[in-house]
Order: sequence, then C-alpha cells, then structure tokens
Amino acid sequence: MKFSVYNTMSRKKEEIVPLKEGEIKLYTCGLTVYNYAHIGNLRTYIFEDALKKSMEYVGFKVKHVMNITDVGHLESDSDTGEDKMSKGAMREKKTVWEIARFYEEAFLKDFQLLNIVRPTVVCRATEHIQDMIKFIQILEEKGYTYIANGNVYFSIEKYPDYTKLANLSIDELEAGSRVEVDPFKKNPLDFVLWFTNSKFTNQIMQWESPWGKGFPGWHIECSAMSTKYLGERIDIHCGGVDHIPVHHTNEIAQSESALGHKWVNYWMHGEFLVMNNEKMSKSTGDFLTVSRLVEQGYSPLDYRYFCLQSRYRKQLVFSFESLTEAQKSLKKLKSRIKNIAEGHQIDETLDKGKLQVYRDKFIAQISDDLNIPNAFTVLSEVIKAKELNNTEKLYLIKDFDKVFSLNLAEEEALNENSNIDEQHIESLILERNKARAEKNWARADEIRNMLLESNIELVDTKEGTTWKVK
Ligand code: AMP
Ligand code: ZN
Repeated sequence: MKFSVYNTMSRKKEEIVPLKEGEIKLYTCGLTVYNYAHIGNLRTYIFEDALKKSMEYVGFKVKHVMNITDVGHLESDSDTGEDKMSKGAMREKKTVWEIARFYEEAFLKDFQLLNIVRPTVVCRATEHIQDMIKFIQILEEKGYTYIANGNVYFSIEKYPDYTKLANLSIDELEAGSRVEVDPFKKNPLDFVLWFTNSKFTNQIMQWESPWGKGFPGWHIECSAMSTKYLGERIDIHCGGVDHIPVHHTNEIAQSESALGHKWVNYWMHGEFLVMNNEKMSKSTGDFLTVSRLVEQGYSPLDYRYFCLQSRYRKQLVFSFESLTEAQKSLKKLKSRIKNIAEGHQIDETLDKGKLQVYRDKFIAQISDDLNIPNAFTVLSEVIKAKELNNTEKLYLIKDFDKVFSLNLAEEEALNENSNIDEQHIESLILERNKARAEKNWARADEIRNMLLESNIELVDTKEGTTWKVK
C-alpha cells in the first residue's frame, strides 16, 4: 500500500509510513459553529473526505477524529476581536448553546447532503473542558506558560521550533498576525490557553479551573481532543491553508511541549475556494451555503463534483458559470453510466485480471497526493474501454465511486429495485455452481459479493441456491 502526500512541514511529497502498519490516525479541524458552513469551508471537508476514502480504497483502516468548535474562537485566530459564538447569539437573539447545537446540526446535515462520511469520532470542545485543563496543567508544570491579567498564556519563546510549519521568521509571522495587540502578551505571538479575565463579561460558557472561572482559548481543544482519541502521535492532520501560520502552528507548539516529542507526521492543507478574487468569508455575512446552491437549482453533489475536478492544493475559483458546467458534465456522465447499466448482456462475466488493471490505474492516481482529477480520467477510460463488457464497467464505476461518492450508479440502483433481471441472476448462480464444483472458491465468492452489491443475497439450501432482495 503506497500512498504519497505533500507534507506542509517538509514541503515535499512523501510516501506515508503509518505509525501502525495498515492503519491511519487522521485528525481534521472541524467548524466553528456560530453560523452555517460556507461552501469554502465545505471544499476543505470534501477534500478531507476524499483523502480518507482514498486511503481506505488502497487498504488502510482509517480512524478519523474531527472536533466541533463551540467555544473559545475569537474573530481573529490570534485571540483578538469578538467572540464568534457570542456574536452568533447576539445576531440571532438566542443563547450561545442554542446557536452551537443548531449550527452543528446544520453542518452535519451538509455532510450528509455532500456524501461526506461522518468521522469516526466527532467531539465538541465544550464536552472536553477537563481534558483541556489537564493539558494546560502539564504545560504549566513544564514551564511553558505565564499568567497575565488573569489569563493563562503559552510563551512561544520556550518552544524554539515555533516557526517550522509556516516556514516564516518570527518577524514575518508577527507581521501576518492581526492588528489589535494584547498588551499583556510578552510576545505578540503568545496565545491564550485559558481566559478568566475576558473582555466579554457576559460570557455564558464558563467553567471552574485552577486559574479561576473562565473558558479555553481556541487552539488547545485540538491538542487535547486529538491526544484523547488518537493518542500521543498521529499520522495525518488536515485543515485549510489559513490554519498554517496561527492555529496549526500553535497546536504544534503546545502539543510538542506537553508531550515532549514530535506529534504529527504529515500535515496536509487544502487551498481556498475564492470568489471574485476574494476569499469567502463569514464575517462579511455574504457567503454561499449548500442550501443557497440548492435554491439556485444545483444539487449538493454538483458542488462535490465541481470541487473534485481540481487538485486540493490549488485555489479554486467559484462562479455559477463554472458550477453550471460541472452540473452539465455530471449529468452527462450519469447518463452514460445509465446506458451502460441498461446495456449489459445476460452472459457477461467479470474478468478479475482486467478489472485489476483499471483498479491499479485508479490507485496510482488517488495515491499520488490525491490526484482525483486524473482518477476521473481513469473512469472515462473505463467507460470507453472496448475490452470491458458492461457488467465489468459497472463494477468498476461502483468501485471508484467509493472514493468519488457521487451516487454514480444511482439510476441503475433504482432500475434494479423496480426491474430485477432474474435471468441474469440465474445465469450467475449457474456460473457460481460451476465454480464451486471446480473448487474455484474465489470466483464463487466474487459472484456472491457482486450480487450483494446489487442488494441480491444468495441463499444456499439442500435443494440448491435461491436468492432474495436484501
Ligand atoms: P473555521 O470554522 O473558520 O475553523 O473553518 C473551518 C474549515 O474551513 C477550516 O479547515 C478552514 O481552514 C477552512 N476554510 C475556511 N475558509 C475557507 C475557504 N474559503 N476555502 C476553503 N477552506 C476554507
Ligand atoms: Zn484545530
């Protein structure tokens, strides 16, 4: 199982060597749930979903953890500006708790609509306050923190590798960090681990802590929760490129200081979705959501397809014209697949060797730093291939769709339910009987599994083999 990815830390493409053979521990930063996810955020989650499914396709077992930020994220990533959750609550005249749960649900609904599989663990910051407090206590015991104006800060001077992920100098990082400087910070790049004395006196989300009643800073949640669910070392950590200079830089500083060793082996960052040459941003209030796209006549999967047409490390320019092009192209693709589904012959069988040739081509693309656009080229080759019969084509289309997740053979599934091709099933049962008589168990199993994929279950009885719809 070879799988290469571009590692932001080394700035090179590297072949993944998992911490435990055959397994990948993946952590992805979740949404700050003070508003709907915009389609830019969702581009990043689609990239992470395709990454996870590609690694599963080549045979890795992936444990995926994603946090939900429902406390502690101020408007600027470096502890200045308004509190995002309180801002959402004021905007809608609701409590921060109501805002958090409402937008978390909306976010996970978007996952469903976009065929993004739910991570193995989805964990809320507010439910892990004690884990964060313990993490901060370790940092305090090791001498990485100081208290000023009632807040607990991480001192970056104590962690000499601070600039390694962003690959910028301290001066450059400072120049990039935002305006309003907190006068209590010893270094402008220090960051808050725990607020007790915040400017938001009406902050509702507060917890007791050794430093007084308050709430956590934003970055600490990812370190605490990833360590809790994935252990002290993880294989891959992802997010959007905006997280490189502040959020992920701070996550690394506090995690490696507390743990005393390297924390993440591969850092992967998705580039931004941009519109009219600007990054899509929630702070302006003018942003596009999945439901806005649906209102305009697009399906969520049109958007997924649009995103998958470009490499994750390239900026993607959004326009309704290009989304319309993607919609047309997906429609065309599905109609070609429908023809294939309708056109198969009763006596068609699967040639495993031929299938593997195409599977290998597909794997070569997805495992090359997630070259999904080229994986679509392999799909086109399959559709056009003269040497493949329709049954083989359909098998491969469904197989590749484990990664694309575009319901490519959906039409065909509908047909199957209403119009089951009994003759075809009977011919496959005969073929399976023959394979079993010849002790060709691999082929026999293959036929059983192939039918199972079409929701047909074989039942072996003394009288012979029958079938039923699952
Ligand atoms: P946030 O809720 O701000 O933490 O963002 C959630 C995720 O969306 C993070 O991984 C961000 O890096 C990512 N993100 C934010 N804006 C964009 C954008 N315009 N395009 C792609 N990803 C984005
Ligand atoms: Zn994070």
